[in-house]
Amino acid sequence: MEKLKNKIALVTGGSRGIGAAIVKKLASEGAHVSFTYAKSPEKAALLSDTLQEAGKQVNAIHADSADPQAVTKAVQQVISSFGRIDILVNNAGIYIGRPFEEHTLEDYEQIMNVNVRALYVASLEVVKNMPNGGRIINIGSNMAENALSAQTTLYTMSKSALTGFTRGLARDLGQRKITVNVVQPGPIDTDMNPANTELADFLRSRMALSDYGTGDDIAGLVAFLASDEGKYITGTSLTIDGGLNA
Ligand code: NDP
Repeated sequence: MEKLKNKIALVTGGSRGIGAAIVKKLASEGAHVSFTYAKSPEKAALLSDTLQEAGKQVNAIHADSADPQAVTKAVQQVISSFGRIDILVNNAGIYIGRPFEEHTLEDYEQIMNVNVRALYVASLEVVKNMPNGGRIINIGSNMAENALSAQTTLYTMSKSALTGFTRGLARDLGQRKITVNVVQPGPIDTDMNPANTELADFLRSRMALSDYGTGDDIAGLVAFLASDEGKYITGTSLTIDGGLNA
């Protein structure tokens, strides 16, 4: 049985990696899924075309998460097409890693605009029309709880902001039975964190399961939270990292 039949979902940053896996999973559970992308129009088109050909309801919207107006417009576009958004997945994210002394103000603005401000802007616009029982799922990182190595300060700071945002918003929206959670992946094999590097070997050596995860591992948890089965889970951080933080 499809767990998300006729639900309207928006996934930010769905053209590649974890976001693309979430788009596929929500669509396979019967949701109508819109997703945003910025720099990968071909991948976005291939994903939406492939899923549409398979009978799924999926569409791609160009919206750079660094631009708050573009994010607001993307939300409004989905609401004007479908009347509401039941499930918002704030997934788009970037990583900037270098020695702290080499960081610039631009690095700070870039990472905070995409990883934090965009999520705030999207949530703000979505909740205006979100029905009771809606879902907001933020994609954070296990690094919010364990920085793991040097050169991760900005990224770790940005992902830690999501845990506070999630706890506060869960209380703001609880009376409407809207749940808000942060899913915190560990190493997942994507363009952002390929499984065939020296860093990957180091991370594997620290993990209970000694293996990278896949986008599908994250998508499964997101679909569970979005479904009726997840209705009593709110305001919390769910780490899914193969035991890296154990
Ligand atoms: P990828 O770099 O592989 O993919 C990033 C996705 O986000 C792409 O679809 C990209 O779209 C989109 N994106 C990036 N910047 C923007 C932007 N400015 N506007 C709109 N979309 C954007 O990353 P992952 O799939 O690995 O990561 C997805 C999320 O998971 C991120 O929030 C990341 O921080 C988090 N995460 C990832 C982990 C990992 O090990 N992979 C571990 C922990 C957390 P486009 O190419 O079209 O711009």
